[in-house]
Amino acid sequence: MRRIAIVGGGLAGCIVAFRRAAAGDRVTLVEAAPRIGGQLWTERTSGFVVEHGAEGFIARSEAVPALADALGIAGDLVGQETHRSFGFDGAALRELAPGEAAAFLGFQVPRDELGKGIRTFRLGMAQLTETLARALASDERVDVRTSAAAVSLERAAGGLRLALAGGAEIDADVVVLATHAAGAAALLGEPARALRGAETLSSVTVSLAYPRAAIEHPLDGTGFVVAAGHQAHGFRACTFTTSKFADRAPAGHVALRLFFRPEPADLEQMNDDAWAARAEASLARVLPVRGSSERAWVSRWSSALPVSTPAHAARVRETEQALAGSGVLLAGSAFHGSGIDAAVRSAEAAAERAGAL
Ligand SMILES: Cc1cc2nc3c(=O)[nH]c(=O)nc-3n(C[C@H](O)[C@H](O)[C@H](O)COP(=O)(O)OP(=O)(O)OC[C@H]3O[C@@H](n4cnc5c(N)ncnc54)[C@H](O)[C@@H]3O)c2cc1C
Repeated sequence: MRRIAIVGGGLAGCIVAFRRAAAGDRVTLVEAAPRIGGQLWTERTSGFVVEHGAEGFIARSEAVPALADALGIAGDLVGQETHRSFGFDGAALRELAPGEAAAFLGFQVPRDELGKGIRTFRLGMAQLTETLARALASDERVDVRTSAAAVSLERAAGGLRLALAGGAEIDADVVVLATHAAGAAALLGEPARALRGAETLSSVTVSLAYPRAAIEHPLDGTGFVVAAGHQAHGFRACTFTTSKFADRAPAGHVALRLFFRPEPADLEQMNDDAWAARAEASLARVLPVRGSSERAWVSRWSSALPVSTPAHAARVRETEQALAGSGVLLAGSAFHGSGIDAAVRSAEAAAERAGAL
């Protein structure tokens, strides 16, 4: 039986593990964090469904529904309740035309995607990785290890050897790296020197819960984006979570999620209370809010978001050429395009390539 080791238990790593186990390989998946899911992480508490990471995937995606179908959760796919969105120009909110929100933030969105929005799952985006994790846990060919960081990868007699922090070793015929670019660069050394230059962005998001009556605005849209030049403290956008998706808060309450591009010092030094206070003050500049939030959830993502540029695509191509014939493959959004749809397509392709090695 062929042995596949996968480094990184985010969406991409889980998909490769799921597909290879289904094809009959013996699979070991190692994840540095205590939790499987990577940038998909949904917290469900007291009737709130709170996204710490991604909140949805592009509506035109075919890869995500196909995966959901294979996992038996296609019936839990949900779309947006509304497509209306607003922009804040430093003085007031105004309704934006379809696609204008992306332009406000400087995203390049293909014309056929304008205004189409995103889709998610009834229980939040982590429903996808939680379902994958359950399928992996119930398969005796699969060994999933959390709090298990890979620290080196070497050629060994008859294959490859992955060493974990703490000293454990895993021998494999094929290794799939589904990490961030810096993680792959550290494990691969010289063949991946190009990846050392990969750029990333950091993000902090703060979800705030309020009694419905505390906000004197109909919240009749998906949220608002803040125009460049008015993004104090890096506050870029706000999702009206409970208007955008159904069943995200108990009756009588609303949840809003604020997105910040933080200064490095703020990311390291500000505690959750300080971020919640900053989020409340940022929101109060835009909407009439009475009183403090009743709950706040702060999510920090340091150097987590890959920056997809032609230069990055060239770095990945160069690395993959250097890895040709080595039995090592790259998968995930750090390498083959940002976002969930790209991560799924990359992982499905890597799983297929792994089968052909
Ligand atoms: C705040 C936020 C909002 C987002 N919103 C959206 C959105 O709305 N729509 C969208 O399409 N995308 C969004 N994204 C991006 C999307 O979540 C990611 O593109 C996707 O989840 C990446 O999956 P992945 O498996 O490629 O990588 P990751 O989820 O980053 O997984 C990589 C994993 O590798 C592990 N790892 C790294 N090094 C090692 C090592 N040495 N040993 C073991 N494990 C290691 C990491 O701990 C991590 O779990 C968002 C991301 C963030 C952070």
